[in-house]
Amino acid sequence: MTIILGIESTAHTFGVGIVKNEKILSNVKRTYTTEKGGIIPLEAAKHHQQNKNEIYFEALEIANIKEKEIDAIAFSQGPGLAPCLLEGMSFAKELSKKLNKPLVPVNHCIAHLEIGKLTKARDPVMLYASGANTQIIAYEAGKYRIFGETLDIGVGNFIDTFARYAGIGFPGGPAIERLAKESKAPQVYPEKSSSKISTKGNYIELPYKVKGMDIALSGILTNLKQKLESEKYILKDLAYSMQETVFAMLVETAERALAHTGKKELLLGGGVACNSRLHEMCKIMCKERGAKFFCPERPLLVDNAAMIAFLGEIMFKSSKDDPEGPSGIKENDLNKIDILPRQRTDDVEVTWKKKTL
Ligand code: AMP
Ligand code: MG
Repeated sequence: MTIILGIESTAHTFGVGIVKNEKILSNVKRTYTTEKGGIIPLEAAKHHQQNKNEIYFEALEIANIKEKEIDAIAFSQGPGLAPCLLEGMSFAKELSKKLNKPLVPVNHCIAHLEIGKLTKARDPVMLYASGANTQIIAYEAGKYRIFGETLDIGVGNFIDTFARYAGIGFPGGPAIERLAKESKAPQVYPEKSSSKISTKGNYIELPYKVKGMDIALSGILTNLKQKLESEKYILKDLAYSMQETVFAMLVETAERALAHTGKKELLLGGGVACNSRLHEMCKIMCKERGAKFFCPERPLLVDNAAMIAFLGEIMFKSSKDDPEGPSGIKENDLNKIDILPRQRTDDVEVTWKKKTL
C-alpha cells in the first residue's frame, strides 16, 4: 500500500491531492483569478503561499489519512511560472523534512497524460490544450515526445486574450463557447420550409495556420481583433468561427500524430478540453479513423494535484526497485532538487513507463 501526496502550483492553481494505490482520495484546489488583465506571477505565488496550509489540511481530512501515513511527496517541478513553482517546491520540501519522506519531482504535462490511465486509455496520443500549453504528446521510443505544438501562445491564453479584448471577462473559454452556440448561419431557405433551416453557425473566414505538425495562433488573434473593431461582424459569429478554425487545427495535427505513431487512442487534456465542440470534433475524427476517444472528468482535466500524486505514485513505485530511479528519490538530497520552469516534455527521463505498458 502506498499513499502519495501531490502538490500542484505551476500557474494560477494551488492544489493538494492524495492518491492511494492509483485511487484518488482527495483533490483540493484553489485558483487565483484577476478581474482585469492576465496572471501576475508574483501575485499568484502570494495566493499560493496564503492558501497552502488550509488546502493541505483539507486534503488530509477529505482523504481521511494522517500525515504520518504519507509515503512520499510529489510536486510539479515544471514547466510553469517560476514564482508559483517555487512556492509549491518549498512547501513540498518543508513537508519532506517534517515527515522525513522522499520527494518525487513530477513533470506537469506528463501528469496530464498519465492521469488519462483512469479513463482506461492505455497508450494514447494526447491533445493537451490548456491556458499556457498546447501540445500533441505521445510516448514513443522510450520518451514522451512532442509531435506538434503551438509556435506562439497556448490555445487557452489565445481564447482568453480575445475574450478580454471583447470585454466578456475571464476565463474566456466558457463565454466563447456559449456565444458560439448562439451564432446562426444566414437563412438560405424560404421562411416556410423551417425544417431546412441550418442550425450551424455563421462561419466567417479566418486564417488557418498549421505549419507541419505545429500551429500558430497570434496571427489569428490579430485578425479576430481587427474584425471585431471593424464592426462588420458580430461577436457570436466570431466566437463560432474562432472555435471552428482553431479546433480544426488542433484536431488535424492530433490526427496526423495518430497516423504517424499508429496509435489508436486519443486523449484530451487541459482546461480547453472542457469545450463540448472540441469533444465533438475529436469524436468525429476518431470515429472516421477507427480510434477511441478518451477524456478525463473535469476536475482531472484542469490543473489539479491529484494527477501530480498519481504520476508521483507510479514514479515512486518504479524507483523503489530500480537503482536508477528518478533523480532525487533515492538520495533524497533536497538541495539537489530545483524547479524547472522551462522543462520540456521530451527532457524527462522516463524510467517507469516500460513497466506500465
Ligand atoms: P488550464 O490552464 O488547463 O487550467 O485551463 C485553463 C484554460 O481553459 C483557460 O484559458 C480557459 O479559458 C480554458 N477553458 C475553460 N473552459 C473552456 C471551455 N468550455 N472552452 C474553451 N476553453 C475553456
Ligand atoms: Mg495544465
